[in-house]
Amino acid sequence: MASCNKNDIITLELTGMTSEGSAVGHYNGMAVFVAGGAVGDAVSAVVIKAKKTYAIAKILEIITPSADRIEADCQAFPSCGGCVYRHINYQSELDIKKQFVEDCMRRIGGLDNLPIDNTVSNGIIEGYRNKCEFPVGTDKNGRIITGFYSYHSHRIIECDNCRLHSAVFSEINRIFKDWANEYHLTAYDENTKKGLLRHLYIRRAEVTGEICVCIVATNKNISHIDELIKRLVSYSTDIKSIVININNKDTNVILGGECVTVYGSDYIYDVLCGLKIRLSVLSFYQINRAQAEQLYSIAKEYAQLDGTQTVLDLYCGAGTIGLSCADSAKQIIGVEIIPEAIKDAKENAHINGIKNARFICGDAEQAAIKLKNENITPDVILLDPPRKGLTEQLIKTCCDMSPKRIVYVSCNPATQARDLAVFDKLGYRIEKVTPVNMFPRTAHCETVVLMSRAE
Ligand code: SAH
Repeated sequence: MASCNKNDIITLELTGMTSEGSAVGHYNGMAVFVAGGAVGDAVSAVVIKAKKTYAIAKILEIITPSADRIEADCQAFPSCGGCVYRHINYQSELDIKKQFVEDCMRRIGGLDNLPIDNTVSNGIIEGYRNKCEFPVGTDKNGRIITGFYSYHSHRIIECDNCRLHSAVFSEINRIFKDWANEYHLTAYDENTKKGLLRHLYIRRAEVTGEICVCIVATNKNISHIDELIKRLVSYSTDIKSIVININNKDTNVILGGECVTVYGSDYIYDVLCGLKIRLSVLSFYQINRAQAEQLYSIAKEYAQLDGTQTVLDLYCGAGTIGLSCADSAKQIIGVEIIPEAIKDAKENAHINGIKNARFICGDAEQAAIKLKNENITPDVILLDPPRKGLTEQLIKTCCDMSPKRIVYVSCNPATQARDLAVFDKLGYRIEKVTPVNMFPRTAHCETVVLMSRAE
């Protein structure tokens, strides 16, 4: 018997936050999750979902506000899935993220008493995103719309002025929507699997200002594309690359594997840690460039390089972390699975005159085994996997190569905590854990961990 039912109006004290940024309170011993709540709020809320072990409620009235509260300054908050901390002061967000990392380490990794730093931030909390990926859909009047998926759904919420984005994204988005509606193009429908336009992807290199506009579509034959190109290019000469990415699969993954450049270059260039960086659409690039510089400098500091070491950079993307360490290492070996990213990484070494870096295209787990069998003995291993983290096999191979230090950068403290427990068992001691707020106002948290081989 549930202790509350749908549509019940309840009063709650909010006492904690979930990893996804919902506030939590308890009602008759049952956890109730409330989006847009803050720790310390007393609220009246209506139950919108009641399960056996938990409920989800929506705030009706804030009876007593938390001391951490500030005025949320976006009309799409909290219904849009992006920001979860617009309504609390920034220092509290940094504290919550540190606490979240600590909780993951303890609960998931079984790792107590770790030295966890305060969350690092450069203090820039608006306009930091250099990339957007707007889903394209249709409203009830049949007009093409773009925006963000609402929290935990694929319903599109229109938002023309996201505060996390570079301002030009809104204008490009408007030009795209006007064009699509004027020429009666179709949006891809996930239910019927019909329609053409799936996402509008824009990347802007912060330092050079160069912009790449990529239209993700089920087919490369987009009628009236020349008109869109004309409008975009006359809007901004910074648009250096317009690309169609073809994705005709029934998938949540935004990008397909094939790109066709329809205007300008296949790439744009940015500057990161003093290096010129070439980027293709398919190459991963940190979305918060300025904060990434700080992240990389922490990773480099933890690597403690003196010019004599061999550094293995697993999950290297366009080579950025490894290349930023190249001036202090003997040799960098980068591994990455996306061929276009490896091409960018090689080119990035070349254009920056870096001769001591080589890059391998392949699965990190397989490549590590191969390197080990070739008797490559890295002094330092850098790891920066996607959200799902590492495999046990890869952890084992890393430990078998017996590097002095391992620096593990992660965008998901939960999987990182799981992996650190394995490293710990295999003889690597966790020396430092530093949360870095790469994604201010969202629930996401990056961490850099230094491990060293126990002697
Ligand atoms: N270190 C880079 C990229 C980190 S993102 C940077 O800071 O920019 C993680 C990268 O891992 C992505 O480029 C992704 O393409 C790559 N990747 C994902 N699965 C992989 C695998 N199994 N083997 C190697 N690389 C992989």
